[in-house]
Amino acid sequence: MISDKMVELVNNSSVIRAMFEEGKRLAGIYGAENVYDFSLGNPNVPAPGAVKEAIMSILEEEESTEVHGYMSNSGFEEVRQAIAASLNRRFKTAFNESNIIMTVGAAGGMNVLFKAVVNAGDEIIAFAPYFGEYRAYAANADANLIAVPPDTSTFQPNLEEFERLITPKTKAVIVNTPNNPTGVIYSEETIRKMAEIMERKQKEFGTVIILFSDEPYRELAYDGAEVPYLTKYYANTVVGYSYSKSLSLPGERIGYLVIPDELDDFASVKAACGVATRILGFVNAPSLMQKVIGRCVDIDVSESVALYNRNRETLYAELTKLGFECIKPEGAFYMFMKTPIHEGPFCKLAKEYNILLVPGSTFGCSGFVRIAYCVSYDTIVNSLPKFRELAEKLGLTRKQEEKA
Ligand code: PLP
Repeated sequence: MISDKMVELVNNSSVIRAMFEEGKRLAGIYGAENVYDFSLGNPNVPAPGAVKEAIMSILEEEESTEVHGYMSNSGFEEVRQAIAASLNRRFKTAFNESNIIMTVGAAGGMNVLFKAVVNAGDEIIAFAPYFGEYRAYAANADANLIAVPPDTSTFQPNLEEFERLITPKTKAVIVNTPNNPTGVIYSEETIRKMAEIMERKQKEFGTVIILFSDEPYRELAYDGAEVPYLTKYYANTVVGYSYSKSLSLPGERIGYLVIPDELDDFASVKAACGVATRILGFVNAPSLMQKVIGRCVDIDVSESVALYNRNRETLYAELTKLGFECIKPEGAFYMFMKTPIHEGPFCKLAKEYNILLVPGSTFGCSGFVRIAYCVSYDTIVNSLPKFRELAEKLGLTRKQEEKA
């Protein structure tokens, strides 16, 4: 009954979601406090109080027909203005409301852009490891996702391989920094070199290659790390932002696209994105949430970052002490840990200790697991003895002792 395309998409359906369901099942058996579910990037930090205040005051102060009604497919003009002004203040850009389209989260924004610009058979490049849903989003646009193999020593993009993989069919390149699943932030030097390569290839092939900056984790950066704003380095950049992680609003489905004036064929792309928003069935981003964002654009999220940072520091210190290997994340709330045995058996073994992890192959990079540490600090602390038992079972602690 279901379409051939969906058969494939259902078969490859998200391992992360399956793990999440497994977590709920285990919690039913052992009690939620005895399950260490690191599977889903669902923020445990509550949404800032200002979000609730904004919801209440909008409902009190504004006309119901305005708050809940249809509006332009791109979203409320005053909200887009507020976002543009906030970006200009923070990144010294020069956007206005015509550069902003409100979206149904980062996922909605990416699907809108691909619907607007991608032809069947086009190629979309992503750097492994990458958010696994990119494969499905490329398939939605009948495009092929081309993965640049990882540099597992730094998890900065492998630029030599990247250049080799760009072809006349390359329509877009997805960059996600701070990165899911590694927590790495791409350096300014990396971004500059990437932009140079793309400029060169556009000239060589006479094509337009869009750099899509997928940045739901932009504000989640530790130790004062800078996250370069990509429109400043490459003209054909489109930014996809989401409030799912920074404001802990993943279920509310709210974000935006930035389409800069400098983008090739700006007016048509912008019009196409508006139409794509409508015909993909979103029609527009959720109206109440747009208005909330209009009032919360400049919220300081440093308290949330501090809470994730405490999880990061504790987990990283303990896991490396036990002999596990991983790069210390600079942003987002994920750690990408090397597995001492094949990742499949490793995840299975970890589950025996009620630790739920996502295999690296989900992100196009096997030999690793992702630990989503956007959980309570208690979960982190209580999981440590279980990680120790796991390390002992694998003989890691013995090796550490011998080294010492
Ligand atoms: N892109 C990346 C890298 C993500 O990690 C996620 C969600 O985890 C998304 C996009 C989708 O975000 P949203 O919930 O805003 O659609």
